[in-house]
Amino acid sequence: MHNQRKPTPARLFGALRQHFPRTHALAAGAASFALALTMFASTPEVEAKRHSLPVKLTAVAGDEQAPAPEAATAGPDHSEAPLRERRLQVRNGDTLSDLFQRAGVSAAEMYELLSSGDEAQQLSRLKPGEELTFRIDGDGALQSLEVHRDRLNLVEFSRGDGGDYRHILHQRQPDSYTAYREGEIDSSLFMAGSDAGLSSNLIMEMAQVFSSDIDFALDIRRGDRFSVMFGEEFLDGEKVGNGPIQAASFTNQGKTFNAVRYVDANGDASYYTPDGKSMRKAFIRTPVDFTRISSHFNPRRLHPVFKTRRPHNGTDYAAPRGTPVYAAGDGRVVEAGYSKANGNYVFIKHGERYMTRYLHLHKRNARTGQRVEQRQVIGTVGATGYATGPHLHYEFLVNGHHRNPATIVRKLPKAKSIPESEMGRFRAQTQPLLAQLESYEQPALAQRNEDNDNNVN
Ligand SMILES: [Zn+2]
Repeated sequence: MHNQRKPTPARLFGALRQHFPRTHALAAGAASFALALTMFASTPEVEAKRHSLPVKLTAVAGDEQAPAPEAATAGPDHSEAPLRERRLQVRNGDTLSDLFQRAGVSAAEMYELLSSGDEAQQLSRLKPGEELTFRIDGDGALQSLEVHRDRLNLVEFSRGDGGDYRHILHQRQPDSYTAYREGEIDSSLFMAGSDAGLSSNLIMEMAQVFSSDIDFALDIRRGDRFSVMFGEEFLDGEKVGNGPIQAASFTNQGKTFNAVRYVDANGDASYYTPDGKSMRKAFIRTPVDFTRISSHFNPRRLHPVFKTRRPHNGTDYAAPRGTPVYAAGDGRVVEAGYSKANGNYVFIKHGERYMTRYLHLHKRNARTGQRVEQRQVIGTVGATGYATGPHLHYEFLVNGHHRNPATIVRKLPKAKSIPESEMGRFRAQTQPLLAQLESYEQPALAQRNEDNDNNVN
């Protein structure tokens, strides 16, 4: 009978095992199993065997997990042995070689990994605190390396089937919650902000949002108020960072400004008034870095550092020598030089009608003819020319006439607005944010009114 000469599947597996390493034996075994099925499928007798086959196969699979005696003759097999894991933290001064040495992996393996691509090359620029997890096989060969850049970012390099390295970037998304803070200014924006639990970055971000409407160096007064809604990010229940400001309001000398973040169809995020006008206008109000002197300012009484005098045609911002001076708006430098009276100076023309002038600079960082962008550093505060102490003398001219930038707001170029066709999208995105900000503000307002009533009674 032909059937008797046919090898049983079990014998087939046994025979194969002697010629192939075990991992291949499983694959080859599965193929022969399919072959065996077609060969046996024709008779009822074989039907019965067919049912028993999966059992055999399971047994073989089981053998794969717990090495069978025959495995010893099959030679070493890396995929079988459990990988050894070494977790190392990058310390100050560690080189990649140091880490490979500590993990017990050869320099040759390190160079092989480094030459596997751009992402791998960045391994030579590790930062202290990053964590590396090496997985090493029985022969001491590196099978994979995980680089934990921070809590959110992990790069995993692993050997592919061909022995070459590939990498995968794993990124965790933190949970984001909406946070709300509000405060009233008593001595300084920074004091009030930090009392309200805002980080200095968030305080800066808020000041930036309103920087076209409020001169944070000269305009801030006691009793000014702010409220701000922003994202707070958590990972495993621990705070890992702040998201952007979603909506904010600032009341300066009785006038309230509202701003809301909008991400347009191109993915660009910017701040707008609730009716869709950009918060970023042609000019910023403070042409110096006011934070450099923030700890000194006291809005109850104009601090000498920020004393404003207008006996002449400009505004003086007294600030330490070296404080950055910004271009108030996009424009072109029409004059940059030195004169006996002005000291180092820069004049910028903004379109046809507007010019800004910056005098007594310590350093000039702009040349005649140069195009500059709003907030670009064009120099630093100094005391060159006719100046008694370090300060920026700032002039704002409209059609050649000196103007006080604080009082010509209505004449300034109109801010860019959301096009009418996009207003539906704008409202859909921003109205919920503004409503949320308002709902947070309400209890506080009610509380304030109650306090006022109590005072009256
Ligand atoms: Zn002056």
